[in-house]
Amino acid sequence: MCLQFTKRLEKLIFKEKICSDVYHIKYTFPESLNYKAGQYLGIQINPIYRRVYSIFRAKGGVVEFLIDTSPGGLASQYFESASIGSENLIIGPYGNFFLRQNQKRIKVLVATGTGVVPFLNWLESDQTILEKYKFLILFGARKLEDELVYRFLPRARNISIVHCITREDKPQSYNENYPNCIFFKGRVTDYIEQLDFKECDDVEFYACGSAHTVEDVKQKIREKFNQETIVEDYG
Ligand SMILES: Cc1cc2nc3c(=O)[nH]c(=O)nc-3n(C[C@H](O)[C@H](O)[C@H](O)COP(=O)(O)OP(=O)(O)OC[C@H]3O[C@@H](n4cnc5c(N)ncnc54)[C@H](O)[C@@H]3O)c2cc1C
Repeated sequence: MCLQFTKRLEKLIFKEKICSDVYHIKYTFPESLNYKAGQYLGIQINPIYRRVYSIFRAKGGVVEFLIDTSPGGLASQYFESASIGSENLIIGPYGNFFLRQNQKRIKVLVATGTGVVPFLNWLESDQTILEKYKFLILFGARKLEDELVYRFLPRARNISIVHCITREDKPQSYNENYPNCIFFKGRVTDYIEQLDFKECDDVEFYACGSAHTVEDVKQKIREKFNQETIVEDYG
């Protein structure tokens, strides 16, 4: 029988720092839990403090997250110091940040930092969408070392990746390290400014990340393409 909702103690079984402040975290998880790509789970940090995290992967009795500890609040501090074997109440899934499977063939996915997690989850969990749609991922970070897209989707067909990097020039080794990706010096909103589509009706925009980035992206897309963006706001 498939579970629709979980609320139980799960064990931290893997923790690895993958870039400046981002940890790849894995917990045990009910194998039978039914969730939809793009949803998130609550992790109880202490009896009165809970934060939510987008599901990166969930299969084979394991759920994975990418957790940015740079916000520096209680949850960030918790994950900085949490040890393997720690137990936390995991609750959910929640949310409706789903890929709209409609006639719009080009999906523009805009994210900064761990805002890319629900997009990775969509793209990894359903191969059929890669046949139906073309994806353009605009990923924003200060430095390339904080890259979170190509490392997980290196050879995916129908996915183009643009790295919008604010605090670093294009390194000489870029094309070798990130074949078929585009380096752009600037913010994701600067890249959107120069985007051009022959047929805008064929394009759908999504954005995920911190509140101010999501707001800026929505605003820019409204001005430039007169379209609404489907968003998930991390606060
Ligand atoms: C639907 C949803 C999904 C989320 N998924 C993820 C995820 O997959 N990975 C992840 O790292 N975080 C994710 N978050 C953010 C997460 O829930 C916490 O807010 C974050 O870990 C900070 O918690 P804290 O207790 O350390 O700091 P808090 O005291 O809660 O926050 C400190 C400050 O940081 C801001 N902030 C919170 N998150 C971010 C962020 N990612 N980037 C920039 N500023 C931020 C807050 O607005 C606040 O001003 C998600 C949030 C939501 C609402």
